[in-house]
Amino acid sequence: MIKFLDLEKVNNRFRTEIDNRVKTVLDKGWYLQGNENDNFATNFAKYCGTKFALGVANGLDALRLIIRAYGFGKGDEIIVPANTYIATILAITDNGCTPVLVEPDIKTYNINPDLIEEKITPKTKAIMVVHLYGQAVQMQKIWDLAKKYNLKVFEDAAQGHGAIYQGKRTGNLSDAAAFSFYPGKNLGCMGDGGAVTTNNEEIYNKIKALANYGSDRKYHHIYKGLNSRLDEIQAAVLDVKLPHLDDDNNRRREIAKYYRENITNPKIILPQVYDEKAHVWHIFAVRTQNRNEFQQYLTDNAVQTLIHYPTPPHKQEAYSEWNNLSLPITEEIHNTIISLPMSPVMTDEEVKKVVEVINAYD
Ligand SMILES: *Cc1c(COP(=O)(O)O)cnc(C)c1O
Repeated sequence: MIKFLDLEKVNNRFRTEIDNRVKTVLDKGWYLQGNENDNFATNFAKYCGTKFALGVANGLDALRLIIRAYGFGKGDEIIVPANTYIATILAITDNGCTPVLVEPDIKTYNINPDLIEEKITPKTKAIMVVHLYGQAVQMQKIWDLAKKYNLKVFEDAAQGHGAIYQGKRTGNLSDAAAFSFYPGKNLGCMGDGGAVTTNNEEIYNKIKALANYGSDRKYHHIYKGLNSRLDEIQAAVLDVKLPHLDDDNNRRREIAKYYRENITNPKIILPQVYDEKAHVWHIFAVRTQNRNEFQQYLTDNAVQTLIHYPTPPHKQEAYSEWNNLSLPITEEIHNTIISLPMSPVMTDEEVKKVVEVINAYD
């Protein structure tokens, strides 16, 4: 079976170094808010090109903390793509804000910037973009709208570590960005982890306090905060893996290029890219009319696939108030999308085999 993602193989490449770094943490006996966090935050900020980065407990918390730090709440609207992973939406509703769902561009799967302006109201506070599947959103129109209407821009960069738009990396394309280091992400730890990046010192300090019980110094609480920290072991693992992220992303690009040049089956719609550097291929998603049949065919031919995602947020039970909303492009994507094997550890033979199997499908 060609695995969708062989995580063990991904991490075993760095096993010796990870073992050593984890041992250092255990030997020191310091588990939270220590050197490993400081080092990793410094290195991750440098990588993204931002002034600040802060490790937090997971990607959802990173998103929640950003909205909270800007003080958005009940009555405030945040514009967001309708076809995102549900965490983006949960972060908005968790803060009491109203998500305003915008249809994606069916070619890039990212939010369609041309459909945003009509959704802006006097209650709109921010636009939350999502670099879905690893492709950086084309931000220019969004920046222009934000300027025109005085809105904040946030990034859900949980799938886009390292992607580049206009010479800048994700995490550095907005007021504040959220990353996830869930094990399967392009930069993943060995449990839960996340980060916020920003160039705004005041917001950085506020998020740092909010993530630590609202405390700016010990036993002194200035906000009604939460507890959301990256532990030292995860920070150490991430610090080992970060220097390899660009190589890993380049390998993903090679595989994606091979898929795009060699999958010729007319039943398969390939993803579109506006610039090679803009995409880090967290997911290589294609579309096809009989998706379930196609997935079964691939399984029968030893190719493992996943669906990102089978049900859009507005059709989830958790958001029953939206269940009757019609978002035809989002729904079309969710009904036809399927993710092919993609990871930096796939061999050339595996990549070739996937293409052969797909081209033989009829
Ligand atoms: C993974 C992911 C999240 C959530 O990250 P966690 O670390 O799992 O909380 C948020 N948004 C998107 C787009 C994701 O892919």
